[in-house]
Amino acid sequence: HQSSNKLTQETLAKMKKHPCYSADAQHQHARMHLPVAPRCNIGCNYCNRKYDCLHESRPGVTSEVLTPAAARQKYLIVKEKIENLSVVGIAGPGDALADWANTQKTIQEIQACDPEVIFCLSTNGLLLPEYAAEIVALGLKHVTVTLNTLEPETGARIYKYVNYRGKRYEGAEGAAILLKNQLAGIAYLAGQGVAVKVNIVMIPDINDREIPAIVKKAKELGAFITNIMPLIPAPGSAFQDYPQTSMTDINNMRKACQADLQQMTHCRQCRADAIGFLGDDRSLEFRGCSKL
Ligand code: SF4
Ligand code: SF4
Repeated sequence: HQSSNKLTQETLAKMKKHPCYSADAQHQHARMHLPVAPRCNIGCNYCNRKYDCLHESRPGVTSEVLTPAAARQKYLIVKEKIENLSVVGIAGPGDALADWANTQKTIQEIQACDPEVIFCLSTNGLLLPEYAAEIVALGLKHVTVTLNTLEPETGARIYKYVNYRGKRYEGAEGAAILLKNQLAGIAYLAGQGVAVKVNIVMIPDINDREIPAIVKKAKELGAFITNIMPLIPAPGSAFQDYPQTSMTDINNMRKACQADLQQMTHCRQCRADAIGFLGDDRSLEFRGCSKL
């Protein structure tokens, strides 16, 4: 597979040490998520905000929320204990951009003590037009955007509301704003040499038939990889009675889309405070370790 030719040598070198972007790196390089962004600006029907953002994680106990100062302290503590810590990600527990001030400050504080660390963040994309330039200015080379549909009518079935610039939008109107911002944000980031991963939550009978078109669009916008994920409905969410998407269906869809764009096959849908190697979470060991 040819990656987008906008990716610089620097991005490609960093990618080799990122366990999520390089399957080969997953056993050698550890990552930690810092849960500094608790708020969210949209309402996904599969989400219950008692849990971490489901774009990146599965329903479970909510991660602890840290201030940027506490996050920096936790990073330093974890780095002492885990040798191959190469990536720090911000994946909620809400949306990394809905709490941009916290996300940005956390990244800057850690960069100040460790310029080598690789950062990534995940977002629903609503605020990318506002912050994508700042993300690039911070030197980030890995951003995940969740893009579940290209149709506002389908979006109306996935998103209850979209809070944008102080106004609440519902139905297809809200979904259209979200979609426009996601597409513009992905194209901008890819054009700036950022390796964009597009997450797609596969929801049977809602967006499953659209997925090949979403993958094609992601490729056209310059995304590096797509990550087709199962719907794991959170208890208490609007989709709580929906069946979880089977891994057979996910794998078949990944296979069908692989011809268009590289597919991620080893995502573990980690917690917002996950620590360690993929599939070997040590988050509990470090819970509450920062005293700030
Ligand atoms: Fe929940 Fe994440 Fe959707 Fe926000 S973006 S509603 S935190 S799943
Ligand atoms: Fe990587 Fe997936 Fe875990 Fe994010 S949720 S850190 S992409 S394995």
